[in-house]
Amino acid sequence: MKSWTSRPVPVLPGTMPALRLFDTAQGSEVALPAGGEQSMYVCGITPYDATHMGHAASYVAFDLLNRAWRDAGQRVSYVQNVTDVDDPLLERATATGVDWRELAASQIQLFQTDMEALNVLAPDHYVGAVESVPVIVPAIERLLRDGLAYRVPGTAGEPDGDVYYDVEAAGKHTVAPDAWTLGSVSHLGESEMLELFAERGGDPGRAGKRQALDPLLWRVAREGEPSWPGGELGEGRPGWHIECTVIAQQYLPAPFTVQGGGSDLIFPHHEMGAGHAYSLSGVPLAHHYAHAGMVGLDGEKMSKSKGNLVLVSKLRAEGEEPAAIRLAILAHHYRSDWSWTAEGFAGAKDRLATWRRALAVAPEGSAAGVIAEMRSALAADLNAPGALAAMDRWAAAANSAASAGCRHDQALVSDAADALLGVVL
Ligand code: ZN
Repeated sequence: MKSWTSRPVPVLPGTMPALRLFDTAQGSEVALPAGGEQSMYVCGITPYDATHMGHAASYVAFDLLNRAWRDAGQRVSYVQNVTDVDDPLLERATATGVDWRELAASQIQLFQTDMEALNVLAPDHYVGAVESVPVIVPAIERLLRDGLAYRVPGTAGEPDGDVYYDVEAAGKHTVAPDAWTLGSVSHLGESEMLELFAERGGDPGRAGKRQALDPLLWRVAREGEPSWPGGELGEGRPGWHIECTVIAQQYLPAPFTVQGGGSDLIFPHHEMGAGHAYSLSGVPLAHHYAHAGMVGLDGEKMSKSKGNLVLVSKLRAEGEEPAAIRLAILAHHYRSDWSWTAEGFAGAKDRLATWRRALAVAPEGSAAGVIAEMRSALAADLNAPGALAAMDRWAAAANSAASAGCRHDQALVSDAADALLGVVL
């Protein structure tokens, strides 16, 4: 599938210090490898609704990592999926009387326009679930052959043959300290797992499953639902976790450097994806798992059912500048849970205006210091608020000195805000 278009990233003088990132699976900050090519997979949207601030914050967070790597002179291979067939999409299409393909296409278009406006660098491969079915099917067939997946017999209302992953069988290993077992990524207890599994698309109560937490790999065709040829599996469509695993394995090295997403993807999505990958390849899916916090509105959880989604496209339609939206996001550390507020957004607009005033009077020789400070903040687990504070200090000094403005430093600071923060001054 076609990705969006990235703005070119300015190249800065000097060097980025070694990067550290918080790894959810290890429960601590880790040093990322300094050489070679880096690789990242960030889970994409299910395109049934416009991009809300939670999505935007998550993609901006991993965009900071992408930019930090590039500033460190490393090559980055970046893959993102789009779950262009899944239950929520089909349910929304039915509820609104729109063809599911049209709904998906329109929301993917809107998402890409939002990402482009927010200056989020595009993935090298933007891959849909539907186009990936031919590679997902053989992976599920193999799990079945290896005894790590099983078919569930039909029960009242459900047809015969849905395929589930056997988490218990998959977690039994005699070798390798990095082998996956249930909890390797999330480290949750069973009751928490059960609660989140039910909350986030799982079906713990499905009759015929060996274990309540076994996730769906293949849903056989149902009347009125789209389906694709599934080889030995029969017509149907893939589950969400196996979709991401197979796409990542197809386009990235094994293991790749960082699996990213919102913290609501830790369990079951990234847990199960890690399991699928280990079962298929015998090596971990990723070296590191990183997660962005959740965004609320005025202290409340943002959700469709509460009708309090803050949409990037709506703000843009109201004439708000994407750079200000991006700055409002960057004012919060990516791992923290935070709330979108009118005051926070007003603060971001003020900050942008202050930086722009300062740029016009940038003192000679002032750029190198602020660039170094921004880099050291970002190298420490993508501390964007620290980088913003460095820019604030530079801007305050520039505005109070009110020099004539040095062209060289103006260009450097403007390039640094773009290259490191993705903020176009
Ligand atoms: Zn995913």
